[in-house]
Amino acid sequence: MSGALLATLREVVGAAHVLTRDTHDLSAYERDWRQRAHGHALGVVRPGSTAEVAAVVRACAAHGASLVPQGGNTGLVVGSVPDGSGTQVVLSLQRMNAVRAIDRANLTMTVEAGCVLQSVQQAAEAEGLLFPLSLAAEGSCTIGGNLATNAGGTQVLRYGNARELCLGLEVVTPEGEVWHGLTGLRKDNTGYDLRDLFVGSEGTLGVITAATLKLFPPPAARLTAWAAVPTLQSAVDLLGLAQQRLAAGLTGFEVMGQFALSLVDRHMPPLRVPLWRQSPYCVLLENSDSEGEDHARTQFEGLLEAAIERGLVSDAVVAESIAQARGLWHIRESIPLAQAQEGLNIKHDISLPVSRIPAFCDETDARLAREIPGVRLVNFGHLGDGNLHYNVQAPADEDAKKFLQTQETRVNQLVFDAVARYDGSISAEHGVGSLKVEHLAHFKDPVALALMRRIKQAIDPHNRLNPGRVIQ
Ligand SMILES: Cc1cc2nc3c(=O)[nH]c(=O)nc-3n(C[C@H](O)[C@H](O)[C@H](O)COP(=O)(O)OP(=O)(O)OC[C@H]3O[C@@H](n4cnc5c(N)ncnc54)[C@H](O)[C@@H]3O)c2cc1C
Repeated sequence: MSGALLATLREVVGAAHVLTRDTHDLSAYERDWRQRAHGHALGVVRPGSTAEVAAVVRACAAHGASLVPQGGNTGLVVGSVPDGSGTQVVLSLQRMNAVRAIDRANLTMTVEAGCVLQSVQQAAEAEGLLFPLSLAAEGSCTIGGNLATNAGGTQVLRYGNARELCLGLEVVTPEGEVWHGLTGLRKDNTGYDLRDLFVGSEGTLGVITAATLKLFPPPAARLTAWAAVPTLQSAVDLLGLAQQRLAAGLTGFEVMGQFALSLVDRHMPPLRVPLWRQSPYCVLLENSDSEGEDHARTQFEGLLEAAIERGLVSDAVVAESIAQARGLWHIRESIPLAQAQEGLNIKHDISLPVSRIPAFCDETDARLAREIPGVRLVNFGHLGDGNLHYNVQAPADEDAKKFLQTQETRVNQLVFDAVARYDGSISAEHGVGSLKVEHLAHFKDPVALALMRRIKQAIDPHNRLNPGRVIQ
């Protein structure tokens, strides 16, 4: 059976694009970015067109095989790698990487799902336009993966997450049909919004093969500042002040805890992290201005002076050049890597009402410290979106692997119970994958869960697409 399926897949996409263990090292497709899972695939198939994707899906359906769609394999919730059965086919979209069209007057671009996010940004930039989705994995994640996970990143405050940047989709259904939904319309009230159904479905309802995305005129100037704040509450108050003074110009507002920055300092010494020793939190702000750099700088300096006067900021630096601004962003984006170098950890990508974040952290930090003496908190995130990466690292003298084995369930329970008490979400931007399936069953509204199951059953009745992910 599996031999017959592989033979059919070779006919569909060409032998060179069906990778199997006997001829290739499949570990890059089978192991997730965080090294939490190492599955075992029947094979990896790399179609080059939408018609080929549809034929692959039909072939797998005919042979009763399930499929795991995969883009850049940078997802953080173990959603893009096969299980250990050796029967699943990894459907890699990486060869589908063409920019199909750019419509300057409509401010849209249509790209294939396997385009790497950075190349989408660059294609827009080459036309003098901006595609604002931006995240630390942008050099390897794909637009298909971004949409399948409804990725967030650093510009959500102004431009929204991946869902809000997408106008239309082309999708291959679990039966191998193609939905041609590549509309560039900003208004289209013709019934249920299928685009919204597929965005964020993490490969469980269909394979995204292309998307029409929103573009924007780029700002005339972008300025970045780094500020030390005395408390998390000051960071929240600074956010309010920045929103009031900069309005839509405020395109980024990131918070970074002292321990998170100390890891960058320890593991990446060339990066020279500013102001981190003197304050429990630092904040990274970005001001995008339509008038120009002088205007942006005056506004930014006025904001920071007012913040210092009110005691919200103890010290601050404004980047003097694009290179310096990139350097500051690079520090923020290096936190996940520095944390990985420190060792395995328990990650929580949570969202909360911004107003409740300080109380949530006070309570949960204290409870964790009480229950697990010496535990270290790597707390950073997109404060402007109410999104924290509230990660828990083993005490310094403890084996990280053992810590995960013995404490993960307890720590998750403690953190997620607190998230629920504070009216938050257990997944802000990374999705559910297989890591959070059980937690979702516990924390999601039961009626919402039942509706999700009915949707999955209606669209993928044989559970062929990414089984065991999102819902069970
Ligand atoms: C260092 C680092 C920083 C990160 N920062 C952020 C961040 O700031 N914000 C954020 O939101 N995420 C972040 N992520 C997570 C990750 O990069 C995003 O989830 C990204 O959108 C995944 O894209 P991908 O192409 O790698 O998808 P993959 O990892 O390959 O897949 C992710 C999920 O989407 C499905 N999928 C992939 N392609 C398709 C397709 N074409 N059709 C249907 N389903 C598909 C997969 O089955 C899987 O369920 C970060 C990851 C890393 C490693």
